[in-house]
Amino acid sequence: MLGHNLILYWKPAIEIAILWFLIYQIMLFFKGTRGLQALRGIIILLLAFLVFQKFDFLVLSWLFKKLFGISVIAILIIFHPEIRMGLAQIGKRQIFKNNLKDEDIILLSRQIAEGCENLAKNKLGALIAIEKDDSLAAYIQSGEAIDSRVCADLIEAIFTPNNPLHDGGLIISRGRIAAAGCIFPLAINQELSRVFGTRHRAALGLSEETDAILIVVSEERRDISIIYRRKFYKDLGAVQLETKIKELLKTKENE
Ligand code: ATP
Ligand code: MG
Repeated sequence: MLGHNLILYWKPAIEIAILWFLIYQIMLFFKGTRGLQALRGIIILLLAFLVFQKFDFLVLSWLFKKLFGISVIAILIIFHPEIRMGLAQIGKRQIFKNNLKDEDIILLSRQIAEGCENLAKNKLGALIAIEKDDSLAAYIQSGEAIDSRVCADLIEAIFTPNNPLHDGGLIISRGRIAAAGCIFPLAINQELSRVFGTRHRAALGLSEETDAILIVVSEERRDISIIYRRKFYKDLGAVQLETKIKELLKTKENE
């Protein structure tokens, strides 16, 4: 009898603990975003529905049940970017990490910096993504596959107008040029200054979804920027660019 009672109590206790943990994780995920307000709204609707149902308010509980159903669909539509980002987080980690040797990092940063400097001098735009721990395989597929050593001349050739692959982004994966003409996800941040066109937004977008190092050469302003984890490093000269790429490639994250 006592044993039976114990079972009666520990099951709900575990259920409450798991539920509490899940709700806490969801709140953490939405913390500081517009999602939190929506989540509060849904919880209030749900509570109101439970209260009305408990006291047999037929019409009100019918109405709130409908509202609840509609709000779930509305949330899916309104928060599709957040949901997409959340799903992208799952399963994007690579099994075999990008462990580039120091000499590869030195060579790669020098060639990219040289290529970008020449492109900027000639008023040509470019967009380059260097893969770190998050796989860029999905974006590589959106372009034309190349498998080549990273060299400044090739980078310049690719971004020269009339080259069929000059439109879109170039991806460097495992220390090699893996593809060009790739499409990156555009950042939909409305606060972003109007100065930023689609090339900069595409770089920012990929840096929001992955830990890739993005390099943008602006054809309008001739300047070179790095975007990493949503952070901009603007107006970089060739030497600064080379140093920053090296530094970012070497930083390990323990997330
Ligand atoms: P710039 O300062 O060089 O003018 P910008 O930020 O003003 O850059 P745009 O002038 O709109 O941007 O640049 C357009 C180029 O950006 C396109 O020709 C294309 O190569 C590239 N681009 C646009 N959207 C994407 C995308 N989603 N993924 C990859 N590249 C893109
Ligand atoms: Mg422009």
